[in-house]
Amino acid sequence: MEFVEVREGSARILVPKAERIYDAPVFYNPVMALNRDVSVLAVSVIKPERVLDALSATGIRGIRYALETPAGEVWLNDISEDAFRLILKNARRNLGVEGEMLGERRFVFRGEKTVVANHDDANRLMAEKFRYFDFLDLDPFGSPVEFLDTALRSVKRRGVLAVTATDTGVLCGAYRQACRRKYLAEPIRGELCHEAGLRILIGTVVRYAAKYDLGVEVLLAYYRDHYFRAFLRLRSGAKKADRSVSMLGYLMQEASGRFEYETGFLPERVPSHGPLWLGPLKEQEFVEEMLTLTKEKALAHKKTLSFLETLAEELDLPFHYDTHALARRNGLQVGKLADVIDALRETGYRATRTHFSPTAIKTDAPFDAVIEAIKSL
Ligand code: SAM
Repeated sequence: MEFVEVREGSARILVPKAERIYDAPVFYNPVMALNRDVSVLAVSVIKPERVLDALSATGIRGIRYALETPAGEVWLNDISEDAFRLILKNARRNLGVEGEMLGERRFVFRGEKTVVANHDDANRLMAEKFRYFDFLDLDPFGSPVEFLDTALRSVKRRGVLAVTATDTGVLCGAYRQACRRKYLAEPIRGELCHEAGLRILIGTVVRYAAKYDLGVEVLLAYYRDHYFRAFLRLRSGAKKADRSVSMLGYLMQEASGRFEYETGFLPERVPSHGPLWLGPLKEQEFVEEMLTLTKEKALAHKKTLSFLETLAEELDLPFHYDTHALARRNGLQVGKLADVIDALRETGYRATRTHFSPTAIKTDAPFDAVIEAIKSL
């Protein structure tokens, strides 16, 4: 394998030389540097002691957690032998300490931090390490569902589970049967598909967690670059789980773009989309703390800061209006987004941009008021 060196955050890692990222024997995607920046900031705010990067590839994510966050013990795991060898190489380069093999599939570096490189199926490792990790990160190819059960048993009952899902085609309704199969949910097509997809993903974790009497609170969840990401704080107890389940529900949308949503275990109307999470997508204080930390961290991606600022400013209400989609659906001309926002604010409503789309707004205004605001320009 030929390598090139890449700098990301405080890490300098070797990645395989390849024409296209998916051809490489070990996976590294520079676009995901933003995902890793946001994760480093999140872990720095959460301050977990034991962290697992369950699907580690080159080791970049876990190595950044070891170098850039207060975590004391970081595990980097991958099922691929090539990945395991590269994780060892990269950990050695960045940690600057020697270590020792523990059995045939595990190597421990003991320095200021303990870093463990592990070569195994993530499900087997997580089953072995029951209620061990304070922060557990699932960053798979595609859907995280095949790892959810063991992850929810391996993370502590008050720990944080971070999930990435790159199967946006499934969660956004391009492959409806796959969404039904993997997430037991009905997706939606059209302009609400990304927010609904993110909420279906969170709703799925809520349902998996509930059977262990674990509730879920969303610290931060977002959509970006064709993936979903959620940082989920677990809460221990049947009542906490009941409360999370009570925040699941369904979305209905008419041809005009008018939407409604309602909480409920079963859908009351047909057609409806879900079950999906109807609770908040962020804890404002958590995002503000992450933003404060950006001043002292070496961020790798030039868009991380502006993206976090958008997330911090965004109104946290379920679903949004895409002004271009509304105009198309209702035969209207659409003006500038900033003017639509101003028009709504002038009539007393709250309105902000949303990270889900550059042409969409989040607002507490009803559908008819949004249509009037578009018409007024
Ligand atoms: N987290 C990495 C990063 O930030 O660069 C990228 C991870 S890559 C998307 C997914 C990795 O999961 C691959 O390296 C693959 O070998 C590994 N993988 C797939 N199935 C696995 C399993 N069952 N157990 C452990 N690793 C697995």
